[in-house]
Amino acid sequence: MALNIGQMRQILQLESSKDYADLAVMGGLDRYLRRLEQFHLPNPSYAAMNREQRREWVNSLLQRLDEVEKAGERKHSTSPGDRAPSGDLDSPVTFMKGVSLTLAAKFARLGVHTMRDMLYFFPRRHLDYSRRKSISRLEGDEEQTIIANVWQAQEIILGGRRGTEAIVGDETGNIRVIWFNQPYLARKLRPNTQVVISGKVSLFRGRMVFESPEWELMEDKELIHTGRLVPLYPLTQGLHPRQMRGLMKRVMDQWAWRVTDFMPEGVRAHCHLLELPQAILQAHYPDNELLKDRARERLAFDELFLIQLGVLARKRNWQESQPGNPFKINGQVTEKFLHSLPFTLTGSQKRVLGEILADLEKPKPMSRLLQGEVGSGKTVVAAAALLAAIGSGYQGALMAPTEILAEQHFSSICQLLSGGEREGYLCSCLGLLSRPINVSLLIGDIPPKEKERLQSQIREGKVDLVIGTHAIIQRGVEFQRLGLAVVDEQHRFGVLQRSALRQKGFNPHVLVMTATPIPRTLALTLYGDLDLSVIDELPPGRLCIKTKWLSPEQREGAYNFLRREIKIGRQAFIICPLIEESESIETKAAIAEYQRLSEKVFPDLRLGLLHGRMPASEKEDVMRRFRAGEVDILVSTPVVEVGIDVPNATLMLVEGADRFGLSQLHQFRGRVGRGKEQSYCLLLAEFPSEEGRERLALIEQIQDGFVLAEEDLRLRGPGEFFGTRQSGLPDLRMARLSDVALLERAREEAIRLFQEDPGLEAAEHRLLSQEIARVWQDGGEWS
Ligand code: ADP
Ligand code: MG
Repeated sequence: MALNIGQMRQILQLESSKDYADLAVMGGLDRYLRRLEQFHLPNPSYAAMNREQRREWVNSLLQRLDEVEKAGERKHSTSPGDRAPSGDLDSPVTFMKGVSLTLAAKFARLGVHTMRDMLYFFPRRHLDYSRRKSISRLEGDEEQTIIANVWQAQEIILGGRRGTEAIVGDETGNIRVIWFNQPYLARKLRPNTQVVISGKVSLFRGRMVFESPEWELMEDKELIHTGRLVPLYPLTQGLHPRQMRGLMKRVMDQWAWRVTDFMPEGVRAHCHLLELPQAILQAHYPDNELLKDRARERLAFDELFLIQLGVLARKRNWQESQPGNPFKINGQVTEKFLHSLPFTLTGSQKRVLGEILADLEKPKPMSRLLQGEVGSGKTVVAAAALLAAIGSGYQGALMAPTEILAEQHFSSICQLLSGGEREGYLCSCLGLLSRPINVSLLIGDIPPKEKERLQSQIREGKVDLVIGTHAIIQRGVEFQRLGLAVVDEQHRFGVLQRSALRQKGFNPHVLVMTATPIPRTLALTLYGDLDLSVIDELPPGRLCIKTKWLSPEQREGAYNFLRREIKIGRQAFIICPLIEESESIETKAAIAEYQRLSEKVFPDLRLGLLHGRMPASEKEDVMRRFRAGEVDILVSTPVVEVGIDVPNATLMLVEGADRFGLSQLHQFRGRVGRGKEQSYCLLLAEFPSEEGRERLALIEQIQDGFVLAEEDLRLRGPGEFFGTRQSGLPDLRMARLSDVALLERAREEAIRLFQEDPGLEAAEHRLLSQEIARVWQDGGEWS
């Protein structure tokens, strides 16, 4: 092993903090030193020195390390290109000795491609194997570690399979250790070798026994599987925990110290943050709980801080671009619209609409995030805002994440705007304004001729409102005077798409709607560029949706129940399992399931099929028939997830429910319970994993989307939860929702720094600005 200055310094500092008791490294300092290449071992050995000698030796070595490092820096600073930092961190993982192309492919599956990815590939959690015990003091049900002598080890048959049994002992007693399925261990554990064993003990026939604990031989290396806080990494097929730990340890030893800290020293000191290399190292192989927490704190701070800086820059860009369009809103038109509805707005809807309309009258372009639980009635609020735009002489746009949803918005908004006559992709609504309101649907697979016609009408201003998918922001679509853009189900939309939409008009007002409840502080950070409105109540008379997790044997019962609901005039959804491998397999499976259900299970009922690969006209047709009550059961791939609104549907049956995330399940469930009838959500799961079971148990008990979102965040972490990768936001791996204090601190620091040096042009901010450019994928917006 090569001498690693940072690590060595850390060990020495730790040793001095432990009053030179030779406790800094497990197994003693001498053993560690012996493994270093070209290192002059102390004479007498460290173990043989008295305390005073040890102190002297440690301090002089620390001093020497400083000198060596300074010399190194001088050497570097003579070359004009500064230190050559990031280049090597971007090398592929095969750069690491012992990482073959096959292994690299496995890492690629985990999203790890470069050495930097590896350094930032943090363990899920750690097992605390740091508590060392003597055998006589072992207790049940607690992670603990012993160092013992192997008396004997042999292969045995355990539950019909080959395994290993060993008897080990220390000065206080002996204990039996067994491993299932690992007969080869019998050969590794030679008698009279010292072994470290970490795990829980259980009672077997009145005696303590370790069952399949972690183990490690004392003799040859620093402990990485036992005797310390041991990392548990996410794994994939063909990657084993021990292999992973061994490799990651080597990566840390060789690479962590090559990372240059981009954090300005002022911020780091002010917030008492660990240095970056140390934080990375400690996040993987922490010396103790305290350092583990501090490491996480530093890394979480980085994530939040970098996001915040990017968001601030973006906000500045927007504010500095030309002023927006203040609408002249005719209150009577709004009143007329609200009176025409078959219901009255809830208090929350009224309040939020008020906030939006007030924004629209300002010369500053609105940037507002509208949060509201599924079914809380966001669409009608959006419709009122769009009407205000149209009434003021502007065009409006409503962008949905899927074609099905765009279709639905198109038909429901045409209906809300006083039921216009629909002709293909156009619809004219009369009655609200003194002239007709022309609404058009713009989605991907409109016949080209039709599309051209629509596009020219949009360009000429003949169309007042365009509803569609991201087709709206594609090239070729030009608005004459876009005044308001509404983006529905925001979490599916990238920041990039949002800003593309923004560029479509002369700085239109933007309203972003989401059913994903984001705690306020986090929203401030992630969407710090947006103002926040919340609809926090459901329309009156909604009943709690009864949710039940069923085992496969209960499928027949579920079908019978579904049949009963149909008999009394209701409708149902059946969601086919999520198949991540490919959409075409998923589609095939859905078609097969649809056939099975229509022929074998419900031959007497009317079934419809919906999947993402159907042509738009077919999708539209089946949705129309379902909405009109001509279809009893809609069998669908998970595309139905967001937004669909058919109030007569009361039953949602989800196959393979364990594969979906909590928020997704909640979205499915939100497809029913939209009317006054009791609704049900039945969740079928074949072989749920532990995490899958946890999710199913949670969704059974919790109705509140906000609470579920918190749980989802806890289980999946914010990165995956928000799909930050696809949304163009930097990844969040370490930051947690509960980090309110940290969030606020990161925000404060970012604001302070941003005020001081908005372009991050000062020399001490250069590394930081590089880092921001790196983590923000759409670096273009950072000026
Ligand atoms: P979401 O917020 O999930 O987008 P929608 O806008 O689709 O919800 O509305 C859900 C259903 O509730 C729709 O059928 C809509 O007509 C209805 N709705 C909306 N507001 C009210 C209200 N104030 N009272 C009764 N029903 C309402
Ligand atoms: Mg909606």
